[in-house]
Amino acid sequence: MNAAQFSRARQRIEREAKDRKGFGPKAMRKLIRESRAVTVIWGQRIVGWRMRDGSMVCKKDRYATREQAVAVMLGIQAEYGKQGKPRRAYQCEFCGGHHLTSKIPVSE
Ligand SMILES: [Zn+2]
Repeated sequence: MNAAQFSRARQRIEREAKDRKGFGPKAMRKLIRESRAVTVIWGQRIVGWRMRDGSMVCKKDRYATREQAVAVMLGIQAEYGKQGKPRRAYQCEFCGGHHLTSKIPVSE
C-alpha cells in the first residue's frame, strides 16, 4: 500500500467514523496493521504514518503546493475572522507537502 492508497483509506474511515461511534480508532488500527505502516510520533504527538516504501502520510491535511495551502488558510480566516486559525503554511519535513499551523514561527 502506498501513501495515496493509505490516505484515501483513511479519508473513508474518517467519513464513516462520523456516524459510527467507536469505529474510527478500530478501523485505523486495522488499516495500520494491514498496510504494515509505522506510526510516526514526534514530541508525544502522532505526526502520521510511514509506509513500507518509505513514503509518509501525515495526520494533517496535505496540500501539494504552498499556494494551495495559503488559499485554504485565507478561506478559513475569512470565514472565522480574526480568531481564524491557522496562521501560516509551511513545508513539511516528513511528507514534503504543505500543511497549515496556528503556531507562530520562531523564525522563517
Ligand atoms: Zn507532512
